[in-house]
Amino acid sequence: MRELTCDVAVIGAGPAGMAAAIAAREQGAEHVLIVERDIATGGILQQCIHPGFGLSYFNEELTGPEYADRFAARVQELGVEILFDSMVLRLSESGGLICSSPNSGMTHIKAGAVVLAMGCRERTRFNLRIPGTRPAGVYTAGSAQRLINRQNEMVGKRVVILGSGDIGMIMARRLTLEGAKVEAVVEIMSYLAGLTRNKVQCLDDFNIPLLLEHTVTRIVGERRVEGVWIAAVDEKRNPILSTEKFVACDTLLLSVGLLPENELTKAAGIKISPITNGPEVNQYMQTSSPHIFACGNVLHVNDLVDNVSVESQTAGKAAAQYAAGELSAANIIDCTAGTGVRYVCPQHIAVQSSDTSVRLYFRVRSPGGKTRIWAQRGDEVLKEKVVSRVSPGEMEHLDLNIPSTFDKSIISVQVEEVV
Ligand SMILES: Cc1cc2nc3c(=O)[nH]c(=O)nc-3n(C[C@H](O)[C@H](O)[C@H](O)COP(=O)(O)OP(=O)(O)OC[C@H]3O[C@@H](n4cnc5c(N)ncnc54)[C@H](O)[C@@H]3O)c2cc1C
Repeated sequence: MRELTCDVAVIGAGPAGMAAAIAAREQGAEHVLIVERDIATGGILQQCIHPGFGLSYFNEELTGPEYADRFAARVQELGVEILFDSMVLRLSESGGLICSSPNSGMTHIKAGAVVLAMGCRERTRFNLRIPGTRPAGVYTAGSAQRLINRQNEMVGKRVVILGSGDIGMIMARRLTLEGAKVEAVVEIMSYLAGLTRNKVQCLDDFNIPLLLEHTVTRIVGERRVEGVWIAAVDEKRNPILSTEKFVACDTLLLSVGLLPENELTKAAGIKISPITNGPEVNQYMQTSSPHIFACGNVLHVNDLVDNVSVESQTAGKAAAQYAAGELSAANIIDCTAGTGVRYVCPQHIAVQSSDTSVRLYFRVRSPGGKTRIWAQRGDEVLKEKVVSRVSPGEMEHLDLNIPSTFDKSIISVQVEEVV
């Protein structure tokens, strides 16, 4: 087996991996190595040819490839090494990783620190267990996006989309622009799963109906999809069979959620949050294995790549500090989801000898209008703000200053609609 050594090894050359590698180099790590299973940088952004990226990070509206290219250029400028066409198979006991490539076979990479940036994958029909036949014409929204945007293959002419996640809404617009008729976007919940801006720009502007509190109950078709049955759901999200109606279509797209790619992480025994399905981390994006850091969609599913870039820089910088023996962190404070909050990330804070600023990302449980958001430690409110509305599809954040004097305690993030 080939042996390589580096200061920081990054798994994945998507936006998270590239931002982490850049930050590690800028922090002073000499040899930063990215291992990527694809033959190009950019991750999922390679197929996201729509605009909407970079609004907060660059203050500009870019397409996915344009956004990724800016990071790829900097990666090259800083001399970050990339092993393409190389799949990481496992994290090694000695602190590095083992990857395999058709060109160089198996390689063992020894690293001072490792950054996990493997992204996520889509839920499939198998995950949902939709009854019916097994015809051609059922795609995940992301695979349809790849076929249309990268392989120039149209997926169908009459389409139903299950799930109101961002990829589904973006594909509703894309398919309409390519001449298909999108019959409806069907969402089981009483609220949108994705960003409001995508509903406005991708559904409302193209008169595509959004059916909230509905689901697909059956898929019909022999060789190709011929239609789907759709029904309203009750408060327990069970279909109300008396409301079932048949919608003729040749294609069903599934936009029903993303799963962080954590097989490597779990196999290495790293502690995983049952809510985010990603590793638990502290404010340095450091996992329960101190030399392993995580960022991007492998950590928690992000709606905006701009947030991914910011948190990945934190991970890359901290990984370089760890490799240089400059980061010693003990998790002292736990961050928990209080009333109205589904999860908080990071889940832990390492208190330092001087004050530390920490950004807590979190998602609310249900949509609301004007809402008070606050972080509390015991009876003490540490920080609060009021926002005009909240939605489970849109990540929120709260910036805290953690004084060196904080002892072992719990910080909970809470939300309450202001009437
Ligand atoms: C369809 C779609 C539309 C989106 N639209 C928007 C938008 O309009 N605006 C916006 O701001 N955000 C958008 N996002 C969100 C944004 O794209 C993601 O938040 C971002 O791409 C996540 O970056 P990442 O690096 O964590 O993951 P990815 O981009 O998925 O990159 C992960 C990389 O890791 C590699 N990898 C995985 N496992 C291994 C392994 N074992 N070995 C080697 N390499 C591995 C993969 O090949 C991939 O290159 C969209 C996302 C999707 C899926």
